[in-house]
Parts: sequence; C-alpha cells; structure tokens
Amino acid sequence: MRADVVIVGGGPAGCLAGGILAKRGFDVVVVEEHGEAGNPACCAGIVGVGGFKELGIKPGSWVLGKLRRAVIYPPSNEPVELTREKIEAFVINRAEFDRFLAREAARAGATFLLKNRCVDVKIGRDSVVKIRGTHAGEINARLVIGADGPSSIVARKAGLIKSERYLKCAQIEVIAEARADAAEVYLGRSFAPGFFGWLVQAGDVCRVGLGATEGNPIQLLHSFFKKHPVISKKVEKVRTFDICAGLIPEAFSRKFHANGVLLVGDAAGHVKPLTGGGIYLGLSCAKFAAEAAARGLEAESNGKTLRIYDQMVRERFGREFELGVRARRIFELMSDEDLNTILGALRKDNVRKLVLEKFDFDHHGGLIRALTTELPGLLRELGVKRVMKYMRGLIKVK
Ligand SMILES: Cc1cc2nc3c(=O)[nH]c(=O)nc-3n(C[C@H](O)[C@H](O)[C@H](O)COP(=O)(O)OP(=O)(O)OC[C@H]3O[C@@H](n4cnc5c(N)ncnc54)[C@H](O)[C@@H]3O)c2cc1C
Repeated sequence: MRADVVIVGGGPAGCLAGGILAKRGFDVVVVEEHGEAGNPACCAGIVGVGGFKELGIKPGSWVLGKLRRAVIYPPSNEPVELTREKIEAFVINRAEFDRFLAREAARAGATFLLKNRCVDVKIGRDSVVKIRGTHAGEINARLVIGADGPSSIVARKAGLIKSERYLKCAQIEVIAEARADAAEVYLGRSFAPGFFGWLVQAGDVCRVGLGATEGNPIQLLHSFFKKHPVISKKVEKVRTFDICAGLIPEAFSRKFHANGVLLVGDAAGHVKPLTGGGIYLGLSCAKFAAEAAARGLEAESNGKTLRIYDQMVRERFGREFELGVRARRIFELMSDEDLNTILGALRKDNVRKLVLEKFDFDHHGGLIRALTTELPGLLRELGVKRVMKYMRGLIKVK
C-alpha cells in the first residue's frame, strides 16, 4: 500500500490533520488500533469555548454541559469560587466528539484502517509504517504523522522523546452532588501529589478524577472519592466500576518533528503545562502540522514542512509553553501550607479582580505574567526561604 501521508492514531489530533490534508487532495491513510474513534476515551472533556471558536469548531450534540464557574478547594478545604458572566467552557462527550472529527475526515476523503496497530515505523525519504490487524502489512508514505497519544510509537521510533515526565491520571463516573455550571478543583499533596483532583458534571453523571506526578493513580482516586472530607460526602454512588487511567506527557518534553515525520497532539507533548488539557492545543498544532505538510508536499520539500511547522507552533505557543512549564514546576514543589497561602490570596479583592480579568481558559501566559509582575507581594507572603526553594526548582527547568 502507498499513501502521501500515513497518520498513526485516530484521536482528535490525527483526525483533524487527516481531514485537512484529505480536503487539500492528498492521499491520506489513518491507522487506528481500536474498532472506532473515541473508544475507549479517558478524559474529563473540558474544553474552552474561546479555543473551539478560534478553531472554527461549532458546538454539536457532543456538548454535555456548560461551565462558567470554578470552585477551588485548597488543602485547607475552604473553597474559593471564581465566577464569570459568560460560559467559559464546554464539558463534552469525548467518544462522540472524536467520532464527529473522524466522520469529517472520512467525508473529506481520508481512509481509516480501524483495528490496525502500528508496530514499527522506518523513517526516511520514503517512510514505511508496519501494521498488524485487518490490513496487516506495510504502507509506504511520503510523510508520517504521529498522532498516537502519550505513548507514541512514532515518537519513540523517530527518537523524538526528550524526557519521560508524565502525569498519571485516573477518572471514574459517579452520581454526585454537583452544580451543573461549575468545575471543582481539589488541591492537596496527600491525594493528588504534584497536580489536582476534579469533579465536573457531564450530562446525568459526574466525572471525578485526578492526576499525580507520583504514586498509583487508581489507588489515589479510590482514596480521593472514599476518604477526601469534601468529595466523599458529595459522591452518592459509583455508577460504574470502570475506572480509566491515562498518561499526560509534560508539555515540551518531546521534539515534534524530524525528517519525514511530524508529531501532533499528546504524541508531540502539545498540552497545556498547567492543567494538562490537550484537546485545544493538540487540535491547534495539528492544524499547523497539516498546513505545513500540505505546503511541503506540494513543494516536494521535507525541509519546508519542518520549518513551517516549527515556526507556526513556536510563534503561537512557544512563550506559553515556556511560562507554563516554569509555573508548573513551582506548583509541583509547593507544600500544602504554601498552596493554602497562595490560593487564600484569591479571597482578596485585588487578586480576584486581576485573575478574573486576565484568566483565559486556553492561554495561561497572560495570567502568569500578570501575577508575577503586578503582584510580587503574593510570593513575598510565602517568606524568603520558601521563595528561594522554588527559584532553585525553576533553575533546574531545562
Ligand atoms: C484522565 C484525563 C483527563 C483529561 N481531561 C482533559 C480535559 O478535560 N480537557 C482537555 O483538553 N484534555 C484532557 N485530557 C487530555 C486529552 O485527553 C488529550 O490531550 C487528548 O486526548 C489528546 O488527543 P490526541 O489525538 O493527541 O491523542 P489520543 O486522544 O490519545 O488519541 C491517540 C489515538 O491513537 C491510537 N493509537 C495509539 N497507539 C497506536 C498504534 N500503535 N497504532 C494505531 N493506533 C494507535 C489510540 O487508540 C488513540 O485513538 C485528559 C487526559 C486524561 C488522561
């Protein structure tokens, strides 16, 4: 078999890139190991309204809820609520959303090889993707796009993984007491070390999940919904015992291209550093990848593809990634006591006003900059010794 572009992975990033390239007239094959796009899906499904508007994606039947509030529980469990007038985010049905993008790609002319797993990739002038499944064999391609998620075989075979830093996540669907327009965020090292837990309503169930930089996420999740003083009271019953677990790569932990290969989505580490959200960022960069690939293939220049993709991603998100990764490292080092101090500051009118003014669901750089330049007193509240500890952590960021 031969194709202009072989895309490994039929998740959102792979489907979007595939659809754009097929529409431009290229022969596109999407290799997906599962029997349908979006199944299984392990995701809270929270996406920014602004980001989807920017991507030109109109909300469809896959929207399960609309959010305009965040309720943050610091380790002290004294909640802080931030509310906006307008809807900030959608809660989506990931399986349905992924299928919607897959259908769009297929309609544009992309060929889907479902139930086919990529088991090897040889990258070169004429790359070869080896698959096992209903179409077992080899596909020759002018360009390979790795859209195969955090454990990407394409990234591994092309030698593009710089560090193996992941957030380990787990989630379960429950019947719980929750407000339909609020996402709840829970911080505390004892149950979500290095990250946070969440509760959000999604249609007639709630999703309770957490991420952590250490420990077993499934065990942590069990103790979160059974023992956490707030969550354990809200969860009425567990609807399924179908706990899902997944990895989120650290933003910027991979190179995202090499001669003959582009990475998109989680495979590329294109996730928001602070929240791990990868749908908007993955789709945005997948769009850039498709545009760069189309221009490079038309000019028969691999170099052009790489240059354009690199430039587009760095121009749009480079600074955002840099600031976000630094802020995230500080956050990971913070003790519960310091999280209480920092989040407690959200009760002050000036801090709250600034956060509400600067917060953008999909781009966190503006808020990080505003907090560090306009409110240096916030860090001073932690005391010199602790600030020094965090600064040392920052210096270690490569
Ligand atoms: C618990 C959890 C909650 C999350 N919540 C949010 C959230 O609220 N908002 C948000 O924006 N993001 C969230 N994320 C992140 C989000 O799920 C990912 O960023 C997103 O799925 C990335 O899309 P993708 O297309 O890059 O990869 P994926 O969705 O992982 O798709 C990759 C596809 O590749 C296929 N594949 C993998 N290997 C192979 C192979 N060898 N051969 C063939 N096919 C292969 C897989 O089957 C899969 O279909 C969450 C993640 C987790 C784990």
